[in-house]
Amino acid sequence: APAPLPALHLFSDPAEIEALRGNLLAWYDKCKRDLPWRTLAATEQDADRRAYAVWVSEIMLQQTQVATVIDYYNRWMQKWPTLQALAQASLEVSTAGIGCSARPGGSSSNTTSCLLEQEVNELWAGLGYYSRGKRLQEAARKVVSELAGRVPRTAEALQKLLPGVGRYTAGAIASISYGQATGVVDGNVIRVLCRLRCIGADSSSPAVIDQLWDMANALVDRSRPGDFNQALMELGATVCVPKAPLCGECPVKQHCRARRRATLGLGPAAAVTSMFAGVGGCPLCPPAAEPWDSSLGVTNFPRKAAKKQPRAARTATCVLERRGCHGAPEYLIVQRPSSGLLAGLWEFPSLPLAQDLQEEKQREVLADHLQAWVGQPVATGSLRLIGEVIHIFSHIHQTYVVYSLPLGGDVTLDPALSPSRWVTAEEFHASAVSTAMKKVL
Ligand code: SF4
Repeated sequence: APAPLPALHLFSDPAEIEALRGNLLAWYDKCKRDLPWRTLAATEQDADRRAYAVWVSEIMLQQTQVATVIDYYNRWMQKWPTLQALAQASLEVSTAGIGCSARPGGSSSNTTSCLLEQEVNELWAGLGYYSRGKRLQEAARKVVSELAGRVPRTAEALQKLLPGVGRYTAGAIASISYGQATGVVDGNVIRVLCRLRCIGADSSSPAVIDQLWDMANALVDRSRPGDFNQALMELGATVCVPKAPLCGECPVKQHCRARRRATLGLGPAAAVTSMFAGVGGCPLCPPAAEPWDSSLGVTNFPRKAAKKQPRAARTATCVLERRGCHGAPEYLIVQRPSSGLLAGLWEFPSLPLAQDLQEEKQREVLADHLQAWVGQPVATGSLRLIGEVIHIFSHIHQTYVVYSLPLGGDVTLDPALSPSRWVTAEEFHASAVSTAMKKVL
């Protein structure tokens, strides 16, 4: 059996846990931010509607700042105030048999949910992480068609039955909407708990994450679990922030061992070090090679293993331009596949390039690629190199090499290719195109 964890990393005193809960909740009641999903969670009487309101907010908040989410959230909830509304929207499209009228040159297959997907994508486009919106929509359909419109009532069932709902989202929905006494662990909670209990091992490792879930489940207030979880996350977002935490104003500072260590760090070094040294091989202490750095204070915690460098990728993209009605320029955009990076979004015809491909060769492969779209050979000399646009995704450093090609005559789009359409500059910016493509035009 693994050795018991040193007391340094544990909450073992029930009286301390009670005090921490009380302090944190009292602070939350006084200082919490007014957010639209909190208002809905507190006022909505119907449990399914409440769960949906929390669910949408949690999906939107994954990887996106609160301030950015508020506006998107309000628009989403106005358009689809219930799960039924979201699921029904797709039914309306398919039963009416409406094809994707927005792409006259496109193929006729796969048209049933095209409009809705487009709508969902357009609402979601500025938020990044586009597949989140799509998965929410799939889950809504599942609840309506397979679960009789009833959202599962426990974290375990939510995680098991709903696509796109992981352990964190399930815990958040269950605790906030239904009052289930279950903890949550997100980036903010990781930071707060690692500091409260001097956890300096790699905070993305399974051993640390498991320990933090156990801790979150043990700490969560039994009578106000949703508020407790939100309070812990709010503390991480507003007080126990990554770089310069406001320890002086922190409602749980008397329970914080990182703070205690930082304060004692001013005393005799040997005594302090022995007080906080983990037993040899402790799975939660900082690695021996990277001990406590007194210049960092509480920000010694949490720690992460060094991040992988994003992969570099190059893509040739071509702005095909024609004169539309009244002589206004129009641009060809095509839809990306429905899975993978930027799934379902629209872009100028693009083609991944091998690294270090010479310009002459780039023109050749791009001209070949474009021939399929314009239905006739493209002379490499007619491609005008505009410049490069760089976009950083979380894991890819993407360079778009941008060309333009003005077209004289009329072009018939090949229906066998991916969906495509001609748009004005204004329509382009209102379409579900990625932020990277918006930088191109
Ligand atoms: Fe975070 Fe400081 Fe509060 Fe500790 S005392 S939990 S480090 S803000």
